[in-house]
Amino acid sequence: MADFGGDVEAFRAEARAWLEANFPEELKRDPAQQMAAAMGLPESAAACAWRRAMGERGWGTPTWPAEYGGGGLSRQEARVLAEEMARIGARNPIGGMGVMMFGPTLIEYGSEALKRQHLPGIIKGEVRWCQGYSEPGAGSDLASLQTRAEDKGDHWLVNGSKIWTSGANLADRCFCLVRTDQSKKHEGISFLLIDMTLPGVEVRPIRLINGTSPFCETFFTDVKVSKDQLWGPLNGGWTIAKRLLQFERENISAGLGGGNIGQAIPLPTVIEAARGYVGVDETGRLADRDLRRRLTDHLMEARSFQLTVRRAADEAKSNQGPSAATSIMKYAGAKIAQERNELLVEAMGAQGLGWAGEGYSPAELTALRTMLRSKGNSIEGGTSEINLNVVSKRVLALPDPKLKGADPK
Ligand SMILES: Cc1cc2nc3c(=O)[nH]c(=O)nc-3n(C[C@H](O)[C@H](O)[C@H](O)COP(=O)(O)OP(=O)(O)OC[C@H]3O[C@@H](n4cnc5c(N)ncnc54)[C@H](O)[C@@H]3O)c2cc1C
Repeated sequence: MADFGGDVEAFRAEARAWLEANFPEELKRDPAQQMAAAMGLPESAAACAWRRAMGERGWGTPTWPAEYGGGGLSRQEARVLAEEMARIGARNPIGGMGVMMFGPTLIEYGSEALKRQHLPGIIKGEVRWCQGYSEPGAGSDLASLQTRAEDKGDHWLVNGSKIWTSGANLADRCFCLVRTDQSKKHEGISFLLIDMTLPGVEVRPIRLINGTSPFCETFFTDVKVSKDQLWGPLNGGWTIAKRLLQFERENISAGLGGGNIGQAIPLPTVIEAARGYVGVDETGRLADRDLRRRLTDHLMEARSFQLTVRRAADEAKSNQGPSAATSIMKYAGAKIAQERNELLVEAMGAQGLGWAGEGYSPAELTALRTMLRSKGNSIEGGTSEINLNVVSKRVLALPDPKLKGADPK
């Protein structure tokens, strides 16, 4: 990695030249294919070459430490890289839960050995991770989880089940919360890093309302996990788990506010759909006055949200990383994404209500399924109600009505 000594324009020239040499032209008009590996879709040869090039350079994780293979860029350089990628229509091919939540938390809380073992595979986009948090009896009240890991001397023996494990059927590894002490609640939880190919791990996809199966039930039956895959102190997993949730909420919010990007079938924006399906009046304005007003409200809110997410992310990076305030973003982002997808289907009228078959374009069919999928936005990564609770307790420091005289922190 060249040292640009803070000369951002020199870095821009270097990034531009490298991107022009390495970004396959044919991927320009295919954003979904660019991110195929991160989304678990089959990858073309060009997409594979692009992912490998970005992974080798470390630019899929631009600000991660260079010593593990990350880009080692400053925030300013990372911003320049993003600008240069946007300029040529290139998207980051390296993503998923490893990049969004596990990696950043491992960088903060991992031992040197675990960082050296697990970060390079994420940075190169070669190892996919899934999140083993929720259980049939532990969602919002996550700390009541019952999947247990027993210390058997030379290994951990894991038994139990997880649910809603996104992408478990495609994942190589799982960052998993397990109970290592039955006598305590939060203080009896540890983190284990589990290889999904181990005997006793079974994954069953769940079919969702939008027709896809990206979520799974994950069963662990007498799974033997090596002792060195304990992440953090024994019974000290809860602190790491909460930190990881902040990274998760930060990343979900950024994704929700950015529009329906990265779909295998590209969707029109709400404005394009409204103009195309509802039409415009003689002055060029959207013909339906009521829809025009609601669409304007939505667009203003979405734009303010995008700017706020960007500012908060900048502030977070120059401070201690994401904070409890990510719950505000997650709450607002879910609302905006749901509104956007409802408006899109509404603008399409009857054409937005097709489930399958002739008479509907691929984008129309995708719009309905995306709208149904967006219902999960206010549940995943902590429900809207739980995020409001976090805001009330940790951001506004309001007293908990259940605990008279309790310290809100
Ligand atoms: C799209 C999607 C992807 C997901 N991916 C993963 C994943 O990869 N890994 C993983 O581990 N989990 C995942 N989840 C699970 C998700 O984290 C849980 O669904 C979520 O935490 C809620 O838990 P629950 O479904 O058990 O609902 P419950 O906790 O049973 O909640 C039911 C309802 O009660 C409300 N409620 C509960 N407690 C309170 C309270 N104290 N105050 C106010 N209201 C309350 C909730 O807001 C909700 O409306 C995913 C979920 C979705 C929808």
